[in-house]
Amino acid sequence: MSSIGTLYIVSAPSGAGKTSLVKALIDSLPFVRVSVSHTSRAIRPGEVCGVNYHFVERNVFESMIENHEFLEHAQVFGNLYGTSAAWVKETLNQGYDLILEIDWQGAEQVRKLMPEAKSIFILPPTQQALRQRLNNRGQDSQEVIDQRMSQAVSEMSHYVDYDYIVINDDFSTALDDLKAIFRANQLRLNAQAQSHKVLLNDLIQ
Ligand code: 5GP
Repeated sequence: MSSIGTLYIVSAPSGAGKTSLVKALIDSLPFVRVSVSHTSRAIRPGEVCGVNYHFVERNVFESMIENHEFLEHAQVFGNLYGTSAAWVKETLNQGYDLILEIDWQGAEQVRKLMPEAKSIFILPPTQQALRQRLNNRGQDSQEVIDQRMSQAVSEMSHYVDYDYIVINDDFSTALDDLKAIFRANQLRLNAQAQSHKVLLNDLIQ
């Protein structure tokens, strides 16, 4: 893999199905990696450190900010989240496409640093469906769900800043939509010129 990969930002309100969609997407696209963020939030049942997140103490996170270790970082629901700058650089340089699953604040920071990044916002089909999905998770208290619902509405108001919108009503349709975005990007002139150097040269001899 010699080419430099593409950076994708994927945002969504909590409960829109972003994590499941991204997982299904990378299972079918071997050249795509997903960044594992650092967070100061408590680990949830079923989560694995180093897989879902790198779970660190708040003071550790704060010293990482001071050491400029993050490409972007933000406070979400009172917890700190951030993306390792070194890992992103290394993975893109290895030629992989890379997905950052981050909130709108992080997306804003990344866009400023890397304007070529493609951003995708995943939305639920209705507000009611989103509330239903948050209730079904069964991991958080009603108070947390209400708080997440109002945060979700505020998060969704930022969809206008994104390049692509995917509505997750039917899972497989939403997955196809995501795949189409990645596929179209692979077909861009720059990417094709890298992948088919010899052919393109031969064709115009
Ligand atoms: P959760 O705690 O439910 O996994 O994630 C809460 C929110 O934090 C989600 O909107 C998620 O996209 C966002 N998030 C996760 N990792 C990062 C990150 O590294 N940076 C930023 N800015 N947001 C993140």
